[in-house]
Amino acid sequence: EQIQSVFPIVITGHVDHGKSTLVGRLLYDTGTLQSERYQEMVQSSCETSREDEFAFVLDAFEEERRRGITIDTSQIFFSSKLRPYVIIDTPGHREFIRNMVTGACYAKAAVLLVDATEGVQEQTYRHAWLLSIVGIRDVCVAVNKMDAVGYREERFQELRTSAEALLEKFGLSPSAVVPISARHGDNIVGPSDNMPWCRIAPLMDVLDNLHYTPIEEGAFRFPVQDVYQKSGERILVGRVESGSVRPGDKVRLLPRGDQATVEKILSFPEECAPCARYGEAVGLTLSGADAAVTARGTVLAHGELPRHGSSFAATIFWFFGEYSDGDAVTIRCATQAVEGTIALRQVFDPAQPEAELPCDLICVGEAAHCTIETRGDLVCDDPSLLPEMGRFVVEHDGIPAGAGIFR
Ligand code: GDP
Repeated sequence: EQIQSVFPIVITGHVDHGKSTLVGRLLYDTGTLQSERYQEMVQSSCETSREDEFAFVLDAFEEERRRGITIDTSQIFFSSKLRPYVIIDTPGHREFIRNMVTGACYAKAAVLLVDATEGVQEQTYRHAWLLSIVGIRDVCVAVNKMDAVGYREERFQELRTSAEALLEKFGLSPSAVVPISARHGDNIVGPSDNMPWCRIAPLMDVLDNLHYTPIEEGAFRFPVQDVYQKSGERILVGRVESGSVRPGDKVRLLPRGDQATVEKILSFPEECAPCARYGEAVGLTLSGADAAVTARGTVLAHGELPRHGSSFAATIFWFFGEYSDGDAVTIRCATQAVEGTIALRQVFDPAQPEAELPCDLICVGEAAHCTIETRGDLVCDDPSLLPEMGRFVVEHDGIPAGAGIFR
């Protein structure tokens, strides 16, 4: 049975603009939170005089977590009618960048909350910057607390203009700007009677409409880990990082680009399989392949082909020692390892992105937009489509010292 892929999102925005309230509301309105359970929580929150606020739902979860019970507030699951979602927590700026570029978590989309009474604030600005630096392209702006401004359309239009201008500064354009009230549930999973002027789909529909190709349906990628010789056959061993393959499929051997045909798929120990899918470790035999291009690091691909070349725009995060512009490094992406250098373009301290740092050096905790120049060709993909082929580790003096994503 096919399990539907979970769509990972982050909810960002200035403090007090309603992140926790929105999470509670999403859980409640999608029926994730059992209603008895919810009533219980309301009850105990009334006793501590917090009344009917959804933010307390998360506090209650937090309390459970502290007591060692089930719910983990750094990963909250809910399902729309269409698909399951996970809300990934966004702790500090550094952790967020590190998690995104190392693949500890990878959000496909973000909701950026703007309080209708306060408008864009300092952290709104920072979060928009963060989203752009880690390459999240689908950003939905939710103008929250519309109830507190009398559900007035003019106020919404004003904020919409300023949110669009903010995102544009960082090269983003919002997938939608939606007026909501997280507290009252307006325009979240269904339309709102309080905003008859609103022609914009509810937030949940906007999220459901974001396109997402599950990795198992993506183009085929098979980075070769090792090659074995057995009874005169060359068996290429590795893991399918995306898509699937069958005997008879024509594949490209990248970066050189030769074509070959898959003959046999060997699942371990020795059996022939009719197919190899995303996540499976298998051996492949090819016909028509030049032995010289089937070494470790070769990437077998079909469907839409990956990028390959020797110069790539990227964003890196540095976590060990320091790097001076132009030092030699090794770039590791999937099973590839290529020598190269990094040309730093813009260096930032995530805590103070406004103050750009000199770009001759990057130190622990800093992030940079850069160009990766490699000596041989490298094969890579868009990280939001194929994470394993879209990010890389940087080794400096033989030590893993940074990580990044191709842009
Ligand atoms: P966070 O810091 O972004 O997580 O914000 P919270 O979810 O804790 O909300 C901050 C305050 O704003 C709380 O008192 C909420 O009850 C209130 N709030 C959140 N959403 C709404 C809303 O839609 N309307 C109004 N009037 N207040 C809201």
